[in-house]
Amino acid sequence: MKKLGILGSTGSIGTQTLNVIDTLDSGFEIVYLTANQNIELLINQSLKFNPKYVCIGDESKKDQIKKALSNLDCKIFYGRKGLLEISSCNEIDICLNGLVGASGMEPTVNVLKAEVDIALSNKESLVMAGDYINKLKIENNCQIFPVDSEHSAIWQCLVGENLDEIRKIILTGSGGPFRTRDLSSFENINISEALNHPNWQMGRKITIDSATMMNKGLEVIEAKWLFDLPPEKIDIIVHPQSIIHSMVEFLDSSVKAQLGVPDMKVPIQYALTYPNHIKSNWEELNLTKIGSLTFEEPNLEKFKCIKLAYDAMNAENSYPVVLNVANDNTVQAFLDGKIKFTDIPRLNEFAMEMHPVTNINDMKTIEELSNWTEKFIKEQI
Ligand code: MG
Repeated sequence: MKKLGILGSTGSIGTQTLNVIDTLDSGFEIVYLTANQNIELLINQSLKFNPKYVCIGDESKKDQIKKALSNLDCKIFYGRKGLLEISSCNEIDICLNGLVGASGMEPTVNVLKAEVDIALSNKESLVMAGDYINKLKIENNCQIFPVDSEHSAIWQCLVGENLDEIRKIILTGSGGPFRTRDLSSFENINISEALNHPNWQMGRKITIDSATMMNKGLEVIEAKWLFDLPPEKIDIIVHPQSIIHSMVEFLDSSVKAQLGVPDMKVPIQYALTYPNHIKSNWEELNLTKIGSLTFEEPNLEKFKCIKLAYDAMNAENSYPVVLNVANDNTVQAFLDGKIKFTDIPRLNEFAMEMHPVTNINDMKTIEELSNWTEKFIKEQI
């Protein structure tokens, strides 16, 4: 019986994780669940999976959840403080972090400090604090299992391989909903157009990141830390069908790829059952039905966020933190109808240019930079 905690259980990754657990017949015990706002779903999940601990981010819902779970032997935590406490729980074998954005980073740190392995969907953790998180991983003898489909693909391609023999990795991206749209009309992109991803069903933040292709940029930084590769060994290729999830090219020019239907349940399951591929009933890949797989260079003029990510990665220091926090805030501002789609890359770049460049030595510096960036973006809106 594997003991599992889920951070962000009512989000897109969290609900799909519980779906995987529900259908797998391989014995998982849910020790904790956390949610930010969606109390109805958290209550239903708790009644079904009977966790030992639950955390609701919104403290105003304290009494409601207490009452609903009064028949369960379940301790309830509240707010950001509760989330940080629950993520330090060492009574589990593996934590799945499905939190959204920069706020998912500190819980990742706590999980590793508690000497617990982590299935990581929150890419912002590594973007902001990759160096520190990798150190914690080694110190505490833990493993990080990627949940992001591209990184899961690379991880699967690398089983049994020697990391010194990698020439480069190639992250695939669908190109999002605006791959063929003319740049001159990007200014007029509205929220519902940007939330309409052609292939993947995902949460709102990552769907907007896919539309700007910031997601692919963040994934490049995530890959650097997961696989210990320099930026020049990480390529992006646009592959509109999202069937090849990523590739690894070796020194002898041999290339390995991992394929599958675009369904996050597959990489979630592998992260939880590694090194095994356990029988599932997810949709099977039918290549003759798909017919053809196509590839294009990414358009860096249209999708400036990709270039910003490479710039941040090359500049190191505080740049990736500022880019990430700026992007969290600009995406939210776009979703709130406060800025235009084209303001997202513009303001992300402006924050990178204007911020006080510092070395990242500790969590406090990351927190100060995050506060600076959040305030800076709010002043521009
Ligand atoms: Mg991905």
